[in-house]
Amino acid sequence: MTRVMKFGGGCLRDSRSIAQACAIISAQRRAVVVVSAIHGVTERLLAAIEQAKRHERNIPPILAALATRHLAVIDELCPGGPAKKRLQVAIAAQLAQVERLLTGIAWHRDLTPAVRARLLSYGERLAARLLAGVLECLETRSAALDAHRAGICTDGNYENASIDRDRTRRVLRAKVAPLLRRGIIPVIPGFFGRGPGGAVTLLGRNGSDYSAAAVAYALGAERLEVWKDVDGFMSADPSRVPTARRLERLSFAEAAELSYFGARILHPRTVEPLAGTRTRIFVRNLEDPAGAGSEITASGPNRAVDVAGIAANRRLAVIRIHGAGIGSKPGLLAGVSSLLAGAGINIHSVLTSQTCINLLLDPADARRSLRKMKAAVNGVIKRIELEERLALVGVVGERIMEKEGIYARIFTAVAREKINVEMAAAGASSVACYFLVRSPDLDRAVRAIHDEFFP
Ligand code: ASP
Ligand code: MG
Repeated sequence: MTRVMKFGGGCLRDSRSIAQACAIISAQRRAVVVVSAIHGVTERLLAAIEQAKRHERNIPPILAALATRHLAVIDELCPGGPAKKRLQVAIAAQLAQVERLLTGIAWHRDLTPAVRARLLSYGERLAARLLAGVLECLETRSAALDAHRAGICTDGNYENASIDRDRTRRVLRAKVAPLLRRGIIPVIPGFFGRGPGGAVTLLGRNGSDYSAAAVAYALGAERLEVWKDVDGFMSADPSRVPTARRLERLSFAEAAELSYFGARILHPRTVEPLAGTRTRIFVRNLEDPAGAGSEITASGPNRAVDVAGIAANRRLAVIRIHGAGIGSKPGLLAGVSSLLAGAGINIHSVLTSQTCINLLLDPADARRSLRKMKAAVNGVIKRIELEERLALVGVVGERIMEKEGIYARIFTAVAREKINVEMAAAGASSVACYFLVRSPDLDRAVRAIHDEFFP
C-alpha cells in the first residue's frame, strides 16, 4: 500500500515539530512525502522580493534569517557525521540560488513573473531538502526530489497553475517508483510544478495540498494523509462557534465547498486530482497523531444531520455594476470577466439581476478591478461601486439541495437573529448554498445556523 503524507507549513515550525513529523514518517514502510515551506518562509520570500527591489544591501540579512531558520533545525536534530555535513551543504547551495535570484531582482529593480515564481518555490525546495536530510541523519533512507524533476506538470500559469494530472502521472511514476522499490522515502516539495515550457509555476497560496493530491493520483495511492496543526474539518470555525465539532467524515464535494467558502484547513482544489478515484484523504493533527482527524471520501458518509458544516469569509469584496437592462445585455458579462481575467483577477462568484451585476472578489483584487472597469465603462453601465462591508456564509452538505425545508431552516435561523440577507445564491453547487450579510452580523449568522442544525 502506498500512502502519500503531506506536511503543511503550519506544522513544520521548529525542530520539535519537524522531529515529530520525521517520527511519523519513519514508522511507515512505503510512503511518499510532500512538504510545504517551513512556517512563515513563503511570507518571508514575498517580503524579500520587495526589499530586494529597493536595494541590494537588504539581501544579506534576508539570507541570514533563512539560513538560521533551517540550519538551527539541523543543529538540533542531526547527530554529527557525513550525513549532517551533506545536508548543511545542500541547504547552503539552495540559499546560494536564492541569493542569485534576489541579486538579479535588486539589479533590475524589477522582476518577471517567471523569476518571481521561481524565487517563491524555494521555501518548499528548502523544506524538502531539510526533511529528507534530517530523515537520513536519523537513519531513515530518504531523498529530496525537485518538484520539477519529480514530474508535477502544470498548465504553465505562473502563480495560479492547474495540474495536468495525467501528464504528472506518466512522469512522476517513472521518477518515484524506483526510489520506492529501493526502500527510499521520496520527499517532494509542494506548491509548484513545471509548465509546458519547463518554467516553475506556482499552484496558488497554500497549494501544497493540491500538489500532494496530484502525487497521490499519480501513484494510485490508497491514502493521502494531510498533516496539519488542527484536529480536522470542523462544523464551523471554533473561534466563532464554541460548540463547533469535528467532522469525522465528509465527501470530496463537501470538503471542496467548505474550503472554497472559507474553511482554511485544506486548499479548495485538493480533491480535484482525485476525482473518480478511491483514494481516501485523511486530515490529521501532528500534535495529536492518535486522534481520528477527518476522513474525506468521494461519496462521503451517511450523515444524520443534513448540513456538514458552515464556512464563513470576511475577506471578500463585492463590485456592483449598475445599469438599466444590464442583466439582459449580451456579452456584457463576458466583457467584464475577460477584462478581469486579463489582469489575472479571479472572480469568486457572480450574481446578476436585470439592473445589477455583482462580482465577488478577493479584497486584494477589488480596487484594481474597480479601476480597470471604470476605465472601460461604456453606455450601458451607469454606475460601478465597491462594497467592502459584506461577509459570506456558506452552508455545505451533500443533501441540502435534495431535501425540502433545509433552506427554509437556514434563512429562518438567520431571520430570527434579525439579520438581513443582502444577497444569496443557491444551486450553483449541488452541495452548497451561500449568502452575504453585513460583516458585523457574520458571527451571529454562523452561530444561528449552527445552533439550528447542531443543537
Ligand atoms: N508555502 C506556500 C504558501 O504559503 C504553499 C503552501 O503553504 O502550501 O502559500
Ligand atoms: Mg503555507
